[in-house]
Amino acid sequence: MKEPTERFHHQLAAGQPRESCGVFGIHGHPRASELAFFGLYALQHRGQESAGIVARGPDGLVGHNGMGLAGDVFTPDILKRLDGSAAIGHVRYSTTGSSNVKNAQPILVDYARGQLAVGHNGNLVNAVALRKELEDCGSIFQSTTDSEIIVHLMARPFNGTFEQALAYSVQRLHGAFSLVMLTRDVLAGVRDPHGIRPLSIGILDGAYVLSSETCAFDLVGAKFVRDVEPGEIVFISDKGIQSVKYAPQARKALCIFEYVYFARPDSVIDGRLCHLVRKELGRELAREFPVSADVVIAVPDSGSSAGLGFSEESGIPFDFGYIRNHYVGRTFISPSQVDRDMKVKVKLNLMPAMVKDKRVVIVDDSIIRGTTTFSRIIELKKAGAKEVHLRISCPPTRFPCYYGVDFPSQEMLIAARHTIAEIAQYLNVDSLGYLSLDGMVKACGGGTHFCRACYEGGYPVPIEEPSQKDIMERARRMRERERPAGVAEAYVKQSSLPQQAKTAATAQQAKTAATAQPTVDAASAVAPTRAAPKPRRRKRKDEPAAQTPAEEKAAVLTPEPQAERHADKPAKKRKGTSSEPDLFG
Ligand code: SF4
Repeated sequence: MKEPTERFHHQLAAGQPRESCGVFGIHGHPRASELAFFGLYALQHRGQESAGIVARGPDGLVGHNGMGLAGDVFTPDILKRLDGSAAIGHVRYSTTGSSNVKNAQPILVDYARGQLAVGHNGNLVNAVALRKELEDCGSIFQSTTDSEIIVHLMARPFNGTFEQALAYSVQRLHGAFSLVMLTRDVLAGVRDPHGIRPLSIGILDGAYVLSSETCAFDLVGAKFVRDVEPGEIVFISDKGIQSVKYAPQARKALCIFEYVYFARPDSVIDGRLCHLVRKELGRELAREFPVSADVVIAVPDSGSSAGLGFSEESGIPFDFGYIRNHYVGRTFISPSQVDRDMKVKVKLNLMPAMVKDKRVVIVDDSIIRGTTTFSRIIELKKAGAKEVHLRISCPPTRFPCYYGVDFPSQEMLIAARHTIAEIAQYLNVDSLGYLSLDGMVKACGGGTHFCRACYEGGYPVPIEEPSQKDIMERARRMRERERPAGVAEAYVKQSSLPQQAKTAATAQQAKTAATAQPTVDAASAVAPTRAAPKPRRRKRKDEPAAQTPAEEKAAVLTPEPQAERHADKPAKKRKGTSSEPDLFG
């Protein structure tokens, strides 16, 4: 069972997608563990549940892991104990295996070849099968993470060098993995054959550095060298850096959501600064869904760059609507004091004076469950906003991610179960525009090298086990029992748009209605190798009947006028025919 503060932490983040992890490594520097600590500091946005560092000292590898932020886990005394010339670090948000210190990383083991430490960003899609195979051969697992599988694969008898054993072992892994590994001689960096998660190489005072994101290089003073290529292992030792291609060329499928949401705006991925990509997302959004308004505000932090881009393109002034509380930590408050609205306010405080009596465009990076956005819109209306036009800098998120992003199950994704018109009605906005798939790809530089499966359902690596966070725990329980004993979509209140926008929106809505089911774009970067699993759920009595394309179009163009009621009395409405927890999860 989770600790109360941990429960609160989860509640606070509910409705927001979360990244699984960040990794960092450095070799050949006398302040290796201290620099690893600062690297984790820079990567903290990728995981806040636990942090850990393993360093190579004179007596071998020594590690320290703990629950919480890097700044909470490490003290100067602990870092002193981790003195050495090489180190790897890890910050974790759990996507496979529960949140407890046993699952914290890096994993440090002694095995036949000596010592080995591993930090993993991503999710394996064949973890259950691999674990079963390894357990059947005698492996004893200490944690419920998929990452531990990697050290057990390495521990199998193998006649060859460490480099060969690693290349052989990672060929067994399917899914997303960017790894940092440390032995007494070598720092290794590995990226999966599709390059789903980023991993970059930098250099500092002649020492090589590996990091999930380049923002960590900036903090420690390292210079960017290049990205680790998909299907590549780099071995870094006193002899320098050696590259091995362990997998044949596969289609690159970099997670496009890194650009939209996860990566820090000051990180460079594939040669593109995320801040500039996000501004371009905002510009595209303004072109696809223009609107007459008085002010553009953004949901910080990841919506800010897109908000600026929207403002620049539309000519509508940008201003700060929210102030972020940067000091929300795991031990902030008792969960019993927290209701839904307070959870929203704890992180971001709306300044009513910035929206009162104004027509407001609010730019956000995504809508996942819809619950957080719902509260934000109520807050804007209560603060006196005359109109609220919501713009989302990516397409509707309709499919879960199996590669290391903790989206809820498909049935909890609001866009998987509801039309854009229904979402707009539920949120009580005057207009709602999602960026098109084509627009998003264009803003990210174009090309066919992205994973976009959460938008269109074409998974670049076949999903062998539709995973959930507790998949390893459930698989273990089952085994114990078995033993003898792309298109732009929008909803618009027509009256609230200028003529030019009305025409564009109507065309888009017609297009939306004609493609009510998500499809794979013919020019898609990532051809589907397996269809996404359909959401399994029972139909509720109060759920609207499925619409034909024609009916959906009609619904989009003639919304039910229940905005005021919805905004003023959300709790009452949620108990009724469209109860928020029931209908929207
Ligand atoms: S499914 Fe979405 S979040 Fe997951 S890797 Fe692909 S683009 Fe990224």
